[in-house]
Amino acid sequence: MKALCFDIGGTNLKYGIVENYKVLYFKKERTDKYNLEEQINRIINSFEHDAISIGFAGVVKENKILFAPNLKTYQERELKINTDKRIVIDNDANLFTLGEYANLKNYENVIGITLGTGVGGGIVIGGKLYKGKGGAGEIGHITVVQDGALCNCGKLGCIEAYIGESYFPRYFENVFGKKLSANEIYNLALRNDSRAVEFWKWFSEKLSILINNLVCIFDPEVIVIGGGVSNAFDVFKNFLNVKGNVVVKKSELGEYASLIGGYFALMNI
Ligand SMILES: [Zn+2]
Repeated sequence: MKALCFDIGGTNLKYGIVENYKVLYFKKERTDKYNLEEQINRIINSFEHDAISIGFAGVVKENKILFAPNLKTYQERELKINTDKRIVIDNDANLFTLGEYANLKNYENVIGITLGTGVGGGIVIGGKLYKGKGGAGEIGHITVVQDGALCNCGKLGCIEAYIGESYFPRYFENVFGKKLSANEIYNLALRNDSRAVEFWKWFSEKLSILINNLVCIFDPEVIVIGGGVSNAFDVFKNFLNVKGNVVVKKSELGEYASLIGGYFALMNI
């Protein structure tokens, strides 16, 4: 089976052709937030394929987008996709976790954390994706500070409102005097810039709260960290304070993870 697999986030739209769990072709574009369906349909018409998977940055139930704080135009409806092929649509972090689960092979319980514009998560228990009533795994919106910082979802004190990249400027614009991306702060930390190192210490403290909470609930063998901000993993992992017997590792599949997870979902669901 040749699958056309998408990974649609608030900033980037990635897609590729996947066959036998190998990515044969890969491309990244800016997400066209206002003409997203046209963008998807254009790509669908350009490639030969047998099935389609879409990882979408939002809560997805039975192919319907229920909630998408970073792509609000598409909330509470189905995406208008012109295809007669089989299609699976799921939360992007769920597909990320399925992809990592398929890649790791020897573990039954795997939690995925995606650190990007926002913070996403996926839960694989006993080799199966756990979705609750549909929205389980939205770990970015776990409260870590009562009545804390305002999150895009409307709540106060979500972990995403601290460690989501789109919220970084709140914390360091005063320190650095300008907006910096996660990658720029990472590069500064590699050069031992003390402000950047302090930032990643602070970041790891917050991320540790999330990880420790997840370990208490799910006791997984592995927690896999992906998303654009995970490029800084080799810096911030040194400051993590994780309790319990769990391996915390960086995604090996990187930008391919959600595409491989989509392929896994097409093959197994
Ligand atoms: Zn939130």
